[in-house]
Amino acid sequence: MHCHICRKEVESFVDEKTQITYYHCHGCEYIFKSPENYQDFSTQEERYNLHENNENDAGYQAYFQRFLDFILPNIKEAKTVLDFGCGRSTLLASMLEKEGFVCDVYDPIYHPNTLDDSKKYDLIVSTEVFEHLHQPREVFESLIERLEEGGYLALQTQFHPNDVEQFKKWYYHQDATHIVFFRAKTFDVLCEQNDCELITDNNKNMVVIKKS
Ligand SMILES: [Zn+2]
Repeated sequence: MHCHICRKEVESFVDEKTQITYYHCHGCEYIFKSPENYQDFSTQEERYNLHENNENDAGYQAYFQRFLDFILPNIKEAKTVLDFGCGRSTLLASMLEKEGFVCDVYDPIYHPNTLDDSKKYDLIVSTEVFEHLHQPREVFESLIERLEEGGYLALQTQFHPNDVEQFKKWYYHQDATHIVFFRAKTFDVLCEQNDCELITDNNKNMVVIKKS
């Protein structure tokens, strides 16, 4: 098996609790579940419908505020934004609009058919989306494609511990819809492949990338 991001040979390990096989790339630090564990869209949708995302919930707002507090100081001269994979809620988009941005939303389940392939953005945000993607490399490329020159891509997904024993104890991969796992290094490799630059990361779950 080869890494879906950098094409290097990967090592496999099995989580004894679930018998799920994972592949770990030591080149770009990408980990992915064996593809037979990838779910079809309708099974994923059933799971997402259980998410309680109440827009009036102070905790949910604070959660997005932490994301904005990290990314916005790194972003200069951006006006147009796409929230890619927003889910049912458009809360992050409305918070961005309060900051003065003009924001579009897209979600394959809840807000489909909203993408205009000819439209380019100054900033694309995507929170808790990448861990669900069957083809993160291709999606990353397509998002960079949707950016203006000098535009920004800001992502949130939990970085894995990069240690097999710690990984097995980690909660994040136990969600059946979470199938692929990253670290800042993985995004750095994706940036090299796509002529962009990883400007900053918080060593935990957020990266800001700039298109050259
Ligand atoms: Zn790799």
